[in-house]
Amino acid sequence: MTSGAISYLDNAASTPLCSEAVEAMVPLHRELYANPTGAHRMARDTRRRIDDARDVMAEALGSKPGEIVFTGGGTEGDNLAVVGRHMTVGGVTVCSAIEHHAVLEPVEHLGGRVVAVDAVGVIDLDDLAAALGDDVTVVSVMLANNETGMVQPLDQVAEAVRASAPNAVLHTDAVQAFPWMDVATQAACADLISVSAHKFGGPKGVGALVVRDGVELSPLLLGGGQERGLRSGTHNAAGIAGMAAAAEVVLKSRAEQVVRLAGLRDRLADGVLGAVEGAVETGERSGKVAGSAHLCFEGIESEALLFLLEDAGVYASAASSCSSGAQDPSHVLAAMGYDRMLAGGSLRLSLGYETTDADIDQALAVIPGAVARLREYGKG
Ligand code: PLP
Repeated sequence: MTSGAISYLDNAASTPLCSEAVEAMVPLHRELYANPTGAHRMARDTRRRIDDARDVMAEALGSKPGEIVFTGGGTEGDNLAVVGRHMTVGGVTVCSAIEHHAVLEPVEHLGGRVVAVDAVGVIDLDDLAAALGDDVTVVSVMLANNETGMVQPLDQVAEAVRASAPNAVLHTDAVQAFPWMDVATQAACADLISVSAHKFGGPKGVGALVVRDGVELSPLLLGGGQERGLRSGTHNAAGIAGMAAAAEVVLKSRAEQVVRLAGLRDRLADGVLGAVEGAVETGERSGKVAGSAHLCFEGIESEALLFLLEDAGVYASAASSCSSGAQDPSHVLAAMGYDRMLAGGSLRLSLGYETTDADIDQALAVIPGAVARLREYGKG
């Protein structure tokens, strides 16, 4: 480390817990620690906190409270949507090629169809139309991509599904969208919506899946029958309360944060693009969520770049965060047509509600020099 300051630019991987979430969670660990399914007063009080959180999440996601299913995070919500639907009605599952592995793997495992994207990372609606039919029972297209930040045209996807796959429900993974977009409106066309608390200032290991009335799903976890039988297991009451508190912060401050952080993101991306010859920005800036900057540098390896950045206190990532640290080639960049040389030098800088001007200054002071050093080294 050359300085003690840390510039944390990996918020798409996970965010710091906001103080409102901490405050909401502590009483549920210390005072209301009963199992919420119990009959006594403490259990009833705990249950009430879960019901309050359900109301908040319903408002945040544009659903009825009774349509919220609390889950163990984004991966579980995605699996419950895709696999749970398939277990109920069978048929063919469909998703885009840039989905998170939590959707892509279940779809591939079930022998489903994967739809192409264009060069900027937006789903190809013609290819989608070709994949649809009476045999399709679930279509899953994310609202915003976790690597490029590109927002997907969900309304058009929904229109295509209603027109050409009458037996299908539409699921959207809104895990990366929620901090930046009004999911209640933008995902109103979806039958199933998943979010994850740790991507928006809440705790890890908790999330929510909207399951609209009338959509039949089979549970993945069987047991005590919690969450209308869709998710057995003792409620993570503190986590659920923490998620709702963080969601309230998002609802209150999102509009302002989007403007502030889009400005910081633009300064960061433009600064790097201006200072590093041959740097390429993936996707299209105007189509991205506000906190996302994703760049590729030819002639370097992401892993080596991340190492140098970390040494200078800048924490970022290359692609998605979920491959146990291994820098696998990005399936998202491959689907967009990037060759391995360029994709191998990708850098994801993702801002969050606690990102400051100083974080951007630090990143701008470090990244161009680090890329130059690696290119110089590569020549030798
Ligand atoms: N979906 C997307 C788009 C994500 O970015 C992630 C996490 O990286 C997930 C799902 C998985 O969420 P979780 O970490 O809560 O399982």
